[in-house]
Amino acid sequence: MGAGDASSFETDLTVLLEARLRQSPKKDERMSDDTLRIEDAVNETCPWSGKPIAADSLTLYRGEVVGFCNPGCRDKFEAAIRHFEKALAERDVPLIAKGIE
Ligand SMILES: [Zn+2]
Repeated sequence: MGAGDASSFETDLTVLLEARLRQSPKKDERMSDDTLRIEDAVNETCPWSGKPIAADSLTLYRGEVVGFCNPGCRDKFEAAIRHFEKALAERDVPLIAKGIE
């Protein structure tokens, strides 16, 4: 190995940079949560009425799209989730306060 072999060092850098440029991260675009699609819904009928779900009555439940026959049914469902999550959160607080971990 001869001393001062700067040219090969430069070549290595260029190769590295080129390799990095070639594998430009092309992440497949995951759908964002604010554009729910009826095709992605896990259910086909409204749990309240049994009617077919509507494209304007979708929401997310545990990261999955769920559908309802109209926005009123969806809102009723969202209210129920919030109600239970709030109840669970409030129940958990006293346990922590008691020192139970
Ligand atoms: Zn409904």
